[in-house]
Amino acid sequence: MLDEYGRQIDYLRISVTDLCNLRCRYCMPGSGVEKKAHTEILRLEEIEQVVRAAAQLGFKKIRFTGGEPLVRRGLTELISRISCIPGIEDIGLTTNGVLLKEYALPLRGAGLRRVNISIDSLQAAKYHWITRVGELSGVMEGIETAMAAGFSPIKLNVVLVGGFNDDEIKDFVDLTRDREIEVRFIELMPVGEAADWDAAHFLPGSEVLERVPELMPLPFKGRGGVARYYKLPGSRGDVGLISPLSDCFCGGCNRIRLTADGKLKPCLLSDFELDIKAYGTDMRCFLTDAIRAKPMRHHIHQQDAVPRVRNMNQIGG
Ligand code: SAM
Ligand code: SF4
Repeated sequence: MLDEYGRQIDYLRISVTDLCNLRCRYCMPGSGVEKKAHTEILRLEEIEQVVRAAAQLGFKKIRFTGGEPLVRRGLTELISRISCIPGIEDIGLTTNGVLLKEYALPLRGAGLRRVNISIDSLQAAKYHWITRVGELSGVMEGIETAMAAGFSPIKLNVVLVGGFNDDEIKDFVDLTRDREIEVRFIELMPVGEAADWDAAHFLPGSEVLERVPELMPLPFKGRGGVARYYKLPGSRGDVGLISPLSDCFCGGCNRIRLTADGKLKPCLLSDFELDIKAYGTDMRCFLTDAIRAKPMRHHIHQQDAVPRVRNMNQIGG
């Protein structure tokens, strides 16, 4: 379905939980979040109904996220059911990778096509620091298992945090030399926990090109999405830059987001949302209202427009 500005909205990102087994400093409070009552969280059947309505409206792509989506029981079964819905062509998952060792193979069998794994440092002590509790070896094993299960290319999401991992940009890029890995650097967004972080932590995506000048731009590969792509000469993998702040891509935005507690967010970088409870069983109306309410662009540069109601673990990134 087209929105008010002529954009084809065909991508639904679904957060299935706001709980997580990590506590990344820019995303979640150190104490974690209070577990919501079951009645406040969408049941998997309700999520399936939303996806069925979305498919009727022309949505083709679904991505599960969180919190950490793999801590939600029944996700594999949900993916299996959704993969049978006519019109749904692509199902992806964004995960911290910690539980992939256990779930990569069954997820692949259920019809999951793509996995994005978040990893902000390749050094064990720094990884532990940024996640507050995580072990680098666990996510590395998860990445290996996902590759062995046949997910290709694996995408690694790296949030650029000035003063924390800018010294590892080259190490991350080097991962693409002889493996079909896509490393995607994401600009830190001033949302929730990171809303009041010091300006020095916010780096533009262009920092990557300054640190690794050998990177060559790739022509737009028809992959859609929000990243600009680059490559090292002769490398097997690619490097993506996702720069919502320094290189606003709202004009090509094709997505809306469903939160675990049943709110549709037309824009990631806005507090505006619609509540499923107001729509009874009319999921098509729920979705079309969200598409119609999609703003032309975000206004995150204005201090009074910084989203504060939800942390990123409650939105899904
Ligand atoms: N737990 C899963 C994970 O970490 O991949 C999925 C949810 S997480 C909220 C989705 C993505 O959002 C991750 O890649 C995470 O690094 C990113 N993220 C979280 N807070 C962010 C922020 N303030 N700015 C930019 N990216 C952020
Ligand atoms: Fe959890 Fe992902 Fe947020 Fe880290 S970024 S705390 S892994 S939801």
